[in-house]
Amino acid sequence: MDNNNICILLIEDDKYILNFITVSLKSNGYRFFTAGNGAGGLALLQANNPDLVLLDLGLPDMDGIEVIRRIRQLSEIPVMIISARGQEQDKITALDAGADDYITKPFSMGELLARIRVFERKRKKEQSMGNSEEFVCDYLTVNYEKGRVFADGAEVHLTPIEYKLLVLLIANRGKVLTHNTISKEVWGYGETGEPQSIRVYMASLRRKIEKNSAQPRFIITKVGVGYRFADE
Ligand code: CA
Repeated sequence: MDNNNICILLIEDDKYILNFITVSLKSNGYRFFTAGNGAGGLALLQANNPDLVLLDLGLPDMDGIEVIRRIRQLSEIPVMIISARGQEQDKITALDAGADDYITKPFSMGELLARIRVFERKRKKEQSMGNSEEFVCDYLTVNYEKGRVFADGAEVHLTPIEYKLLVLLIANRGKVLTHNTISKEVWGYGETGEPQSIRVYMASLRRKIEKNSAQPRFIITKVGVGYRFADE
C-alpha cells in the first residue's frame, strides 16, 4: 500500500518510545514530525497541517487531555492516544475530549500500524465521497481539508459539534435526518444528544452560517422530525 501521502504528528516525551515508533514509521514510508511536549506539538500542528496525531497523555508541560481540547479548537484532525493510562475512565475522558482512538502502552508496532491504516482508509473514503475538498453552496463554503467554514465572505468559527452537524447535513443534503440519526452520528458511542440540545446546537450553527436564521437558507427544520440541508 502506498503510504507516501499521509503525514503524522507524534507528540511523545519518552525518547525510547519516540525512537521505537519513528523507526517503524520511517520504514513504512510515512512522513512525520515529532514534539516532546504539548506546546511544541500544537505549534507543529498549525505549522505543518499533518493528517493524524499520535498523542501521549503524560507530557512534561501539560496533560494530553488539555492538548486534545486545544487541538479540537483548531482542527478536526484524527487524534490517536498512545498512553500507559489503561483505566476505562482515562479512555472515556480522552474520547469525550475529542480523541478518535486509544491504544494502551505497551502495544505492538504491528497494531499501531494497523490502526493508522484504518485512519488512512477512512480518509480516502471521505475524500472520494466528498469528491472534492470543498463544498460550496451560495454564500457558504466548507473546506473539508482544513476544516474551515466561510459564510458570506468571512470565516466563521464552529465548535467541533457544530462542524460535525454541518458536515453530516451536507453529506445527506436533501434528505431529512431525524433527531435520532443526528444524535447517533454526531455524539456516537451510545451518548445521546436530546432533541432539546440538538436544537440549541442548530440554533447556534444557524446564527453563524445563515444570513437570516429566522428564514434559513441552508438548514431547514422539519418540525417534530429533524433537519435537512437545502437541495440547492
Ligand atoms: Ca509520557
